[in-house]
Amino acid sequence: PYTGLNYDEMSAVREKHLVPCLKSYYKKPLLIHEGHMQWLFDQTGRRYLDLFGGIVTVSVGHCHPKVTAAATAQMNTLWHTTNIYMHPKIHEYAQRLADKMPGDLKVVYFVNSGSEANDLAMLLARLYTKQFDLISFRNGYHGMSPYVMGITAQSTWRFDVPVAQGVHHAMNPDPYQGLWGGKHCRDSPVQTTRDCACAPDECEAANKYYEQLEEVFKYSLPRGKVAGLFAESIQGVGGTVQFPKGFLKKAYELVRINGGVCIADEVQTGFGRTGEHFWGFEGHGVRPDIVTMAKGMGNGFPLAAVVTTPAIAEALGQALHFNTFGGNPVACAVGLSVLDVIQEERTQENCKVVGTYFLQELSKLRDQFSCVGDVRGKGLMIGIEMVSDRATKAPMNNKHFMDVWEDCKNMGVLIGRGALNGNVLRIKPPMCINKEDVDYSIAVLRKALQTHTEKAKRQAS
Ligand code: PMP
Repeated sequence: PYTGLNYDEMSAVREKHLVPCLKSYYKKPLLIHEGHMQWLFDQTGRRYLDLFGGIVTVSVGHCHPKVTAAATAQMNTLWHTTNIYMHPKIHEYAQRLADKMPGDLKVVYFVNSGSEANDLAMLLARLYTKQFDLISFRNGYHGMSPYVMGITAQSTWRFDVPVAQGVHHAMNPDPYQGLWGGKHCRDSPVQTTRDCACAPDECEAANKYYEQLEEVFKYSLPRGKVAGLFAESIQGVGGTVQFPKGFLKKAYELVRINGGVCIADEVQTGFGRTGEHFWGFEGHGVRPDIVTMAKGMGNGFPLAAVVTTPAIAEALGQALHFNTFGGNPVACAVGLSVLDVIQEERTQENCKVVGTYFLQELSKLRDQFSCVGDVRGKGLMIGIEMVSDRATKAPMNNKHFMDVWEDCKNMGVLIGRGALNGNVLRIKPPMCINKEDVDYSIAVLRKALQTHTEKAKRQAS
């Protein structure tokens, strides 16, 4: 049983001693006290199905017994020495991670968070190319340090302070909300309801967005040169936005022709989440020069990394560079056991099968409820864009969105939220959920949407 601070005591501490940016969007924040696989429990023992996994971070399951055992065993052996000595785990783990990478992406730098990983990727790109300017996409999210806040391109996550200079934000290739795109453009079991001129194998939208990227080179970049391009394989915080098929491949070519390197931010899409592939970039048929990863890598334990080629890594040899906690024995033991579980429990395959089923069931809800504008994603990386008007795609008003969201919580299902306007329900659960969990979630969502629709009808009459 739960024996910690009671709810009111905890609320008082939160109010007084924790920063106000620690938000809980629920009317009454949940007190979560225990977790097991896809389940979370509050202080009263009430169980919730966790469809957000600590923001895409709990990959193989809350307190997965195998990961807990690996962490405990390592904690009883050695926690830390700094990397001035050798310890077995960092070597075993670097080897295993490198084995998961294509081509000569074989050199690993372990850090502790996604922001740190992207910071380092920015530095590597600039050192290696001897260029300064970088490109990222509007609506992308890459972290919160002042350095990477510059490549994050959602105003809701930007403060009025100087952030990384020399960053250019290209038009976002969004087949649902953007200028171009539609039915044939996304690599997903579910397509938009928007018609498009593209043939299934020749995406016109990809070409249009590519022209926009070319314009960034033409108008904004000094001598048309670039140090690198940052892209998420599927935009996460931005609301599960998928680029049109073929776009990223062409974008990579353009960047390389102009002297830059290509950086895949796999913080959300890595470790099998998209189902078909272990890494999200593989779904685009590209091979990055630098890959950043975090979140699911440690199943909730702080662990992140940059993986790159020997030639690019060499650029870091110009001066000293060091990270105290990066690659510590406990983090590496956790990371290794996460890889073991993914393999033993066929987690990637589960993402594909259960994720596809989820998407198909959600598309039925979209067809039934006009407030569901779009259902998209791949594997267990899913977004549901809520609108007030199907034709204009105007975002659902905040109060209505919150009601639907809160209703789901009250019925025992925790869902995430994202996008610039905060109107996308994000489903990125621990990758161990099953079809029964999907059926339960769909029933809950259907009920919440019915309640919303009836309320909206009453208000209109
Ligand atoms: N990149 C992406 C794609 C992310 O989603 C996030 C976190 N939401 C980050 C980077 C930053 O990771 P962290 O919060 O660990 O710094």
